[in-house]
Amino acid sequence: MPLTATTFAAMHNCFCSGATRTLAFRKKQLQLLKNAVKQFEPLLQRALHADLRKSPEEAYATEIGLVYAEITHALQHLGEWMQPEKVSTPLMLFPSSSKIVRDPLGISLIIAPWNYPAQLLLSPLAGAIAAGNCVVLKPSELAPHTAAVIEQMIQTFFSEEHIMVVQGDGALVVRQLLKAYRFDHIFFTGSIPVGKSIASMAAETLTPVTLELGGKSPCIVDETANIAVAAARITWGKFTNAGQTCVAPDYLLVKNDCRDALLQQIQQHVHRFYTADPAASPDYGRIINRRRFDKLLSYLPQGNILFGGQANAADLYIAPTVMDQVRHTQPLMQEEIFGPLLPVFTYRTNEEAADLVRQHSNPLSLYVFSNNRKTQDYFTENLGFGGGCINNTLVHLSNPNLPFGGLGCSGTGQYHGKYSFDAFTRPKAILQTATWIDPPVKYPPYAGKMKWFKRFLR
Ligand code: NAD
Repeated sequence: MPLTATTFAAMHNCFCSGATRTLAFRKKQLQLLKNAVKQFEPLLQRALHADLRKSPEEAYATEIGLVYAEITHALQHLGEWMQPEKVSTPLMLFPSSSKIVRDPLGISLIIAPWNYPAQLLLSPLAGAIAAGNCVVLKPSELAPHTAAVIEQMIQTFFSEEHIMVVQGDGALVVRQLLKAYRFDHIFFTGSIPVGKSIASMAAETLTPVTLELGGKSPCIVDETANIAVAAARITWGKFTNAGQTCVAPDYLLVKNDCRDALLQQIQQHVHRFYTADPAASPDYGRIINRRRFDKLLSYLPQGNILFGGQANAADLYIAPTVMDQVRHTQPLMQEEIFGPLLPVFTYRTNEEAADLVRQHSNPLSLYVFSNNRKTQDYFTENLGFGGGCINNTLVHLSNPNLPFGGLGCSGTGQYHGKYSFDAFTRPKAILQTATWIDPPVKYPPYAGKMKWFKRFLR
């Protein structure tokens, strides 16, 4: 549905009326969102299968279930998050007290990508509701089945002046929206180039942005790692959703002496998870569209295929593929892969591995498989990245107590749990001064008062 000036004005009035601010309203709407997703769960599962061939189990574990968990967590903690925070006040401001109130931002525009088209729209929505905002949702047009179900769901359950959905080609629709209306916040999940364009359009109106972007997330494995467990977790992290996961391991850096054992086990796990013919597995996804399929296929000649490499354009299928002999200057290593191709490199020292990681700025995630504490600390302390795991992949994003977000090129701002509440509110400072006394020190004339200023301000 297009966003008209009348609807935007109604949203603005709704926000200004204070209706969205009360704890009772926010909790009711969060519960409503949970009920809505419950009611539409079968439709969402079917849509996710149609868009990305996700199995119902994967759709639940990586999309719908995470939305429930986010809502449940917000419902449990919202009362405490909304409490004003009392902070101390310097003596020179006597007799005053100070507090920080988390203020809702207003009307937020949430823009989502196609790879987790339900979760990446509805999880931020939960945060925006918890924070007391009105929301315009822009799903990805490249996952049209999911986008249609979500629009129907939101229209069924929510009033238009509180939450509404705008559909269409982002390059046109978002541009029009940002030209026509001043949002109070833009929460964007998507690619780096579009993120830059959003940031520059937002700058025109000084609209604050949260950018959840992509990048090349390395996975480092040394000889002290539990190789069997590492192989299972890397295989799962890389090939879930056919590699179309922003935090998927993009490439593998493996210590020379454990390379063969690790690759052998990864191949075994591919068979175990998806059978010898992943094309026939109900648990293996498909590439979102022909454009992305062709892009991924163009990477295949850029290295030596160790296993996988089969593809079927009619079915948008690309097998789980592991490659070596890839040069860092090739597009495969210059761009975010975002598909089921895993290039493998070996290294000899931690310093050498860290230097390779630094060639690709600001990864969204970093994974270290090692049972050596010093190695774990070396990589997690010396490399810049949004978040990550030691001896695991992907799962850091499912802990609502951890902030999720990138740094620099992989994003600005964080969300999940309390961090979502913080992302959609701002800290408003309030200092209150009693009136029973009014020390005259700060008032002119100032002659003779310097000693007081110097005593308090040092
Ligand atoms: P995208 O940037 O092409 O599109 C994202 C959204 O922006 C869509 O809703 C789209 O309609 C809209 N859009 C597209 N072009 C636009 C334009 N010119 N102006 C304004 N809006 C526009 O991203 P995508 O292909 O949907 O998603 C893949 C990318 O998203 C990958 O880079 C991936 O790493 C990243 N991603 C990041 C996260 C994260 O949490 N950090 C999660 C998922 C995906």
